[in-house]
Amino acid sequence: MVDYDQAGRFEYARETMIRQHLEARGITDPEVLEAMRAIRREEFVTGKYLSEAYADRPLPIGLGQTISQPYIVALMTQELRLKPDGEALELGTGCGYQTAILARLCRRVYTIERLGQLSESAQAILGRLGIENVEYFVGDGSKGWPEKKEFDRIMITAAVPQVPQPIAEQLKEDGLLVAPVGGDFAQDLIRYRKCEGRLQPSMICGCRFVKLIGEHGFDE
Ligand code: SAM
Repeated sequence: MVDYDQAGRFEYARETMIRQHLEARGITDPEVLEAMRAIRREEFVTGKYLSEAYADRPLPIGLGQTISQPYIVALMTQELRLKPDGEALELGTGCGYQTAILARLCRRVYTIERLGQLSESAQAILGRLGIENVEYFVGDGSKGWPEKKEFDRIMITAAVPQVPQPIAEQLKEDGLLVAPVGGDFAQDLIRYRKCEGRLQPSMICGCRFVKLIGEHGFDE
């Protein structure tokens, strides 16, 4: 929780992030920029890293995991082209920052996290911020949402060797999926569109994420 004195400094840092790290690097979607302004990153960062809340890099959140770099969060969100009346599936809730951005831009978000402690913490933060249009699940996201369901939009926020088959199956026809795909050290950020049952890739840029560990992801 951030006190009143810190709030002004964070507001300044947030505006600097918007101008220097997002707009100057091609984040132009006004809805995405508005969401990045509205969701306070400092709420998701642990005490030790609070002063770096708006640094343009990932930060540790404990248990060997990270909160993603703001530019990458904005870029993946922009590439996903969310629809206000749509639903999105996110793999890798982590601290819940990306979840909160998604929840601002579509009707309902379904998010899966492997580590119960991180999911609980994310639920507490989003609850405190009054974000209620999110369904949480703790488990192996590589196996997909546990109920039979299809999504217009899917975002994978951990590295995968390829798009897990159950996830590809849960993407609706003409739906979009954004994921870091490659090895456990470096990946390509790719947007896929589902056309006639097949995923058509478009390369976005190189990136580096922690691994998605699971049956259709990496081994631990
Ligand atoms: N979305 C986060 C944010 O807002 O900054 C960043 C997510 S972090 C880079 C990746 C997350 O994926 C970690 O919290 C990790 O525990 C989680 N993860 C790894 N394997 C997973 C799996 N099979 N299913 C669900 N989550 C998984």
